[in-house]
Amino acid sequence: MGNNEGIGMLKLECPQTHPVGRILKDAPHQFVLYDPGAAVGPRRFWPGEDEQAQFKTHCRFCDKPVGEATATLQGKLAGLLADVDEATGTATLQYL
Ligand SMILES: [Zn+2]
Repeated sequence: MGNNEGIGMLKLECPQTHPVGRILKDAPHQFVLYDPGAAVGPRRFWPGEDEQAQFKTHCRFCDKPVGEATATLQGKLAGLLADVDEATGTATLQYL
């Protein structure tokens, strides 16, 4: 049983498997954050007000918008948070 309980990180990739950020929870009682990558910008709370239905971001390698239903990503993150053995996962976003 773990120290990891309530902690998880979902890596986000575009359909070409380029990294487009991470959704993470660093500590059990903290808010979920979106980390777009150090080269792109700061971490922020996730989902934002305009992301309640659909999360969108931009793949700077493909130079295309990508996204996924927020509920789908929240479900995957919840699975990681509930799993004491596996706290890291990957989600593939779709081209929009
Ligand atoms: Zn890409």
